[in-house]
Amino acid sequence: MLGAIEAGGTKFVCGLGNEHGEIIERESFSTTTPDETMGQVVRFFENKKVEAIGIGSFGPVDLNKKSPTYGYVTTTPKPHWNQYPILQELQKHIHVPIGFDTDVNAAALGEAQWGAAKGLDSCVYVTIGTGIGAGAIVEGKLLHGLLHPEMGHIPVKRHPEDKYAGNCPYHQDCLEGVAAGPAIEKRWSQKGHNLQQNDQVWEFEAYYLAQAVTHLIYILSPKKIILGGGVMKQKQLFPLIHDQVTQMLNGYVQMDELVSGIDRYIVSPGLGDNAGLSGALLLAKHELLQL
Ligand code: ADP
Ligand code: ZN
Repeated sequence: MLGAIEAGGTKFVCGLGNEHGEIIERESFSTTTPDETMGQVVRFFENKKVEAIGIGSFGPVDLNKKSPTYGYVTTTPKPHWNQYPILQELQKHIHVPIGFDTDVNAAALGEAQWGAAKGLDSCVYVTIGTGIGAGAIVEGKLLHGLLHPEMGHIPVKRHPEDKYAGNCPYHQDCLEGVAAGPAIEKRWSQKGHNLQQNDQVWEFEAYYLAQAVTHLIYILSPKKIILGGGVMKQKQLFPLIHDQVTQMLNGYVQMDELVSGIDRYIVSPGLGDNAGLSGALLLAKHELLQL
């Protein structure tokens, strides 16, 4: 039996499952203070016989195993969680191997193993929710780099009719600042799920997300791009993004996937809302097998 934790800024989901990605049991806790939330996580795993645990965490996180702050949530603006040793806290109480990566890298791993990118050696998983983040598999391996990619904060060209200033505390009108769920809510003074009928909302949104997707195609050349998170529950965004990406590429990258198959190239998560948790099971397995 393997353990999985999807550690989110809104909620933590703990799960038990097997190496085939089947989730047998799960429980969610809202993300409050580290003491309270991690206490609930520890209690969930305490009497369960898991061989290893995988954590896919909100970030930024320190993923450098040689660093003294490996396993920390680092510069998050989220109250109480700045410089918090999430991995160490769990290790204090649960004595099994524990794998640690970003929530979006875990989701990318799950999707590449069992979901929309099954059988492919590269993909990008982008979540568009409370924030925007992305994880990538490149040549069969998770992409880490200097720290880990922060693709949600790329600069974007403004839609000429969009008057909203943006709300990223670091960059104001980066992608996350203009296109994450809270930006939609502030721009239109209403929650995204009430705005389904307003075409301009989704035209702006697709314009920004298509720029991000186009950059990803140029920089990483992934074999599949998976768009998940709460905002992507608005399924009408997909054809709008397909059209915008097609216009932005303007025929430059001549691959069938992008020319005739773009609706199968930019897709919803195959594992639905389970991508992150299933991926965390794989992080556990990799840690156990020292992969
Ligand atoms: P988190 O990012 O916290 O893990 P979600 O991926 O569910 O959680 O994202 C939450 C954000 O997505 C909120 O800003 C919410 O308003 C927005 N959202 C959730 N459901 C919808 C929907 N059906 N349509 C548009 N926006 C949505
Ligand atoms: Zn930003």
